[in-house]
Amino acid sequence: MTLLPIFLKLDGRTVVVVGGGAIAEGKLGALLDAGADVCVVAPEVTPQIAEWARAGRVRWKARRFEAGDLEGSQLVIAATPAAGVNGAVYREAEARGILCNAVDDNKNCHFYSGAVVKRGDLQIAISTNGKSPALAQRIRRELEREYGEDYAAWLDWLGKQREQLRAASRDPEQTKATLHELATRASMEEFRRSKPETARAGIALRESSATPCANGKVYLAGAGPGDPELLTVKASRLLARADVVLHDSLVGRGVLALISPAAQVIDVGKRAGSKLLTQSEINSLLVAYSREFSVVVRLKGGDPSIFGRAGEEISALREAGVPYEIVPGITAALGAAAAAGISLTDRRAASQVLFSTFSRGPEAGAMDWGAVTGTTTLVLYMPGPDYGEVAARLRECGLPAETPCLIVSEATNERQEIRWTSIASLPFISKLPAPALLVVGRVASRELAKPGSGILREWDESARNGIAVI
Ligand code: SAH
Repeated sequence: MTLLPIFLKLDGRTVVVVGGGAIAEGKLGALLDAGADVCVVAPEVTPQIAEWARAGRVRWKARRFEAGDLEGSQLVIAATPAAGVNGAVYREAEARGILCNAVDDNKNCHFYSGAVVKRGDLQIAISTNGKSPALAQRIRRELEREYGEDYAAWLDWLGKQREQLRAASRDPEQTKATLHELATRASMEEFRRSKPETARAGIALRESSATPCANGKVYLAGAGPGDPELLTVKASRLLARADVVLHDSLVGRGVLALISPAAQVIDVGKRAGSKLLTQSEINSLLVAYSREFSVVVRLKGGDPSIFGRAGEEISALREAGVPYEIVPGITAALGAAAAAGISLTDRRAASQVLFSTFSRGPEAGAMDWGAVTGTTTLVLYMPGPDYGEVAARLRECGLPAETPCLIVSEATNERQEIRWTSIASLPFISKLPAPALLVVGRVASRELAKPGSGILREWDESARNGIAVI
């Protein structure tokens, strides 16, 4: 017959322990932890049990076991070496319908307590149905190594997250998915790295809102170009456990849906009143939130370090002494190239890639694309609505009118649109909605994939001459 593994709620229930030695003391400790009302029956007890009795934590009948001692109890543990006592306790328990455990005495047991690994509220109990206590001990030692002491703090944290998510969420399926994500080994590692004290401080703060959390960390995380599938595992885990998320308007709904429902979400790309939040206001918010919350996520479209003003935020965080970490994302250029099915470099046509922008630099002068050659793939972020002006600037750089161009709008989103064109025809094509970017260069041609295409022939010749002619 197999045994039924159960975890008993003993809070306020009476449990009798017969015996007062070291083994009884061990059992008593566990029973007190479980909130049981314990009565010890033994002529003599260990100093610790005597102390518990003095402090009123256990009741102690300082004598041998007698019939009637089990009255009013629900459970009894016999931990005495005295021959015959276990049997007497067991018979009395049988008669009263009470469950009895006699330590190391199978025939006088209704139940066994098993070998246990305990990490706070995490308890792993092992049973071999009495066949091999040695095996149970070995497994316990292995599990103790596997599940270290920090599981207690992590489990507390998981419990808090669960409460908050369930209170705040309107989507049980999403909550379930998030909770599973939080319980992964990788999430535990992340918790370890971010120091349990930090997480605990965050929780304590949310509970009391009294003591500021000086240990917050800011994560500058990339949300990718739009498709939530393109988010990194790390970023998605971070969103699931964030306390506060400050995001750009570029971040799509699919990604925002992965944010913990318990998190505070602030769209810093939105207009606050009549004006947009300035960069310095965002910097100040990051510093302020890091004082208040443990996991502050600054979520940016694409990659945070590409045209994302991350540099200014990093400076502000460093200046304020706030720890930060960058979690890279897939930048729009890579999303757009993937959407169009092209390679940004190509041994046959492009040996370098330049990520640039059409908007003006800090000095309001035109961007300098001086490094562009015939073998460059130029990716222009924020090309603006005036394709004619962009085409003129590209021509000024010495690029021939027939240079292929590609515009990708809303790359990797449902509304994705792609236009294949050239510098010459760029001014005449219909405008695509923002966000859009422009890819300029030989790789931006559908012809490139065709063997013997004009583009390749021209390249082959120039390559033979050792120069790239465009
Ligand atoms: N940090 C972002 C870029 C921010 S600058 C990144 O790494 O992608 C904003 C510009 O990025 C937009 O004007 C547009 O040119 C480009 N962009 C962002 N997302 C895009 C998308 N899904 N499709 C096309 N272009 C995009």
